[in-house]
Amino acid sequence: MSWNLLGHTWAENLLRTHIANNEARHAYLFTGAPGVGRRSLALAFASALNCTQPQQPGDYCENCRICRHTQRMQLPDLSVVAPESEGGSIKVAQVRELQRALSLTPYEARYRVALLLNFQLANASAQNALLKTLEEAPEKVILLLTADAADSLLPTIVSRCEVLRLRPLAVEALEDALLNRWQLAPQQARLLAHLSSGRPGMALQMAQDQHLLEKRAAWVQELLRLLPANRYERFSACEALARNRDQLRLMLQVWLSFARDLLLTASGSSEKIVNQDQLAEIERIAGGLPTRRPLEMVNTLITSLENLEANANLRLLLDNTLLKIPQIN
Ligand SMILES: [Zn+2]
Repeated sequence: MSWNLLGHTWAENLLRTHIANNEARHAYLFTGAPGVGRRSLALAFASALNCTQPQQPGDYCENCRICRHTQRMQLPDLSVVAPESEGGSIKVAQVRELQRALSLTPYEARYRVALLLNFQLANASAQNALLKTLEEAPEKVILLLTADAADSLLPTIVSRCEVLRLRPLAVEALEDALLNRWQLAPQQARLLAHLSSGRPGMALQMAQDQHLLEKRAAWVQELLRLLPANRYERFSACEALARNRDQLRLMLQVWLSFARDLLLTASGSSEKIVNQDQLAEIERIAGGLPTRRPLEMVNTLITSLENLEANANLRLLLDNTLLKIPQIN
């Protein structure tokens, strides 16, 4: 039976093989963009390592006490380390406390599992403290780290972990899964698959956000207002729009989906339009528009989204984006 994850089949197969062959490593590092499924994969692996009733080695049952408590991150043999507050860091005291827990033999499970979430947020002394555990991991202990990228951790940490790099799903594959496995409405599945750029966790989080569709409608309207606007009008909109990184990321993704729709329509293929409720407006704008202009807009927004992940100044990033998006009437 599969682990019931969206995507990452290669990683699931690798981890299953480690369990089935009794070759689990002492430490694994799951990297990838937020919402791609790092923690879900780590928890599935932790379940499969300790499940008391697997159908075959590498499976987990979802029903035994260990599976249920692992999925809720409430198993006594599962230690979770993460920043204690939003925007905070992982501190050395948290790593020391973890080390004390790991020095005990497992309470009820086969392995004691430590789940260290977003370990790129660990400060230098916390990372150094963990090194000691990685070098001399106690018996029956398995460390699972997640991080945005391997190069945001000390190289000495990365070299002691088996690294699994998770990538977003193809947008169509995620759309299909949201439609068939999560039973979302077709238009919502398509929209969320695009807005999340193929990241299942982010798509599901957005599916639960009642206000998201309202915000999306407001961002589309703002884009429609700014497209024909001059440079001065565009700049005066920036301050209000560039206040929060997560919101800005979502807004740029909404704009990117709209720009792609313009590009598709301008090049004569409108069957894959994401913003179905804006069809008339998209056709009006794209009518007679040379394809290089929506293409320029798509490329600008992709670059801006990449720069956003690289910790750019929000206001400058948005100024720059609006400077480069061509004026379109
Ligand atoms: Zn189980």
